[in-house]
Amino acid sequence: MEALKSPLKNVNGELYIENVPAVKLAEKFGTPLYVISESKIRENYRRLYEAFSNRYDKFRILYSAKANTNISVLKILHDEGAYVDTVSAGEVYIALKAGFKPYEILYTGIDVGDLELKYILDSGVMVNVDSLPQLNRLLKFGIPEVLSVRINTEYGAGHHEYVVTASKFAKFGMNENSALEAYRIAKEAGVKKFGIHMHIGSGITEVTPFIKSGMRLLEIARKICTELGMSFDFIDFGGGLGVPYRPEDQELDLDIFCSRLVGLFRSKLSEFSLGNPELWIEPGRFIVAEAGILLTRVNAIKILPHKRFAFVDAGFNVLLRPAMYGAYHHIVVTNRLNEKPAEVYDVAGPICESGDIIAKERMLPKMCEGDLLAVLNVGAYGFSMSSQYNSRPRPAEVLVKGDKIALIREAETFEDLIRRQRVAEWLEG
Ligand code: PLP
Repeated sequence: MEALKSPLKNVNGELYIENVPAVKLAEKFGTPLYVISESKIRENYRRLYEAFSNRYDKFRILYSAKANTNISVLKILHDEGAYVDTVSAGEVYIALKAGFKPYEILYTGIDVGDLELKYILDSGVMVNVDSLPQLNRLLKFGIPEVLSVRINTEYGAGHHEYVVTASKFAKFGMNENSALEAYRIAKEAGVKKFGIHMHIGSGITEVTPFIKSGMRLLEIARKICTELGMSFDFIDFGGGLGVPYRPEDQELDLDIFCSRLVGLFRSKLSEFSLGNPELWIEPGRFIVAEAGILLTRVNAIKILPHKRFAFVDAGFNVLLRPAMYGAYHHIVVTNRLNEKPAEVYDVAGPICESGDIIAKERMLPKMCEGDLLAVLNVGAYGFSMSSQYNSRPRPAEVLVKGDKIALIREAETFEDLIRRQRVAEWLEG
């Protein structure tokens, strides 16, 4: 029998998300369907917040919007007291729509163009710069209220090489000398409030990379404070906190993570004379991954001499992670929870590419057409990485809270596939 974690329950062999049967959601809204549990988002946020704030009270979580930009998700986290980490003008726009005030939004631009920089300055959010050229261009357009510099500590980590963001060869952030120059320039230009930032990668379940990298960030902070006679309002250790995806995966040990990071922070604040800054982190995955479930219907069982496929209606247009990173997502058959795994399946999507396999060689209960699968832990980088590839409209999203259900994003229609297209006038006939 499947061992399920909250927000999932096994009620007489049927999957419930909080107090709602998965089958009911699929019948009401169709499939594929993203379901998000409000309680799980709040639970994860509070667990993390308490673990840190019990050890250091000038602490803040910036929810990393890129993991899941649904406005309802942002509103839940705003309500919990989070600030938000954004990486595009679009994310800033959505965060403002969700009710975040400009001073609650940190924008980390990755060497973006003038239009985006102007929008960012006009919106009045805090700006985290990635390079000296980016800073120089930004300052041509105006002076941000709060400026931070993303440091490349050169100690990165992550679940896949594509998500490691700190190394000698990484495209992100500044080294010590460039950062020193950046703060000097910004100070001379009249910036009054400063932060310093790192983000080393994503899906990290070991504590050591955060500590090694955090140490380097603090050393660089010391050099900047000493040489420029300035101080930081916040020191941001980024996101990257991993979650278990396979049943046998180890969880990040939150207690050890917090005590080692806060311990390092506290000891270096006094040793390096860093003043009294806030400690910030910006997790995305940790907060929302386990709160998201993708429901997808079995369209066909196809049996070849050496393979058995379960074809479902969600392809990599709906959930990209398996195709992009070879990521594992646990799958349960929502209407057969009490049945034993009996057959090995590749769970395949409808996209016309061989790489469109959501799960490879998975032991699952014997399935048939019409069964409803739940793909777990898709709340982070699920919908936010979806596309219309193969001209498939994106699915709906539903929020569940106890036994309450709300449609928080309508499924797209065929009309949405061509909404912004224009036919060249010489082709009109
Ligand atoms: N901060 C920045 C700058 C990022 O680029 C990312 C993700 O790539 C995050 C935070 C959040 O990472 P995660 O979802 O792994 O916590």
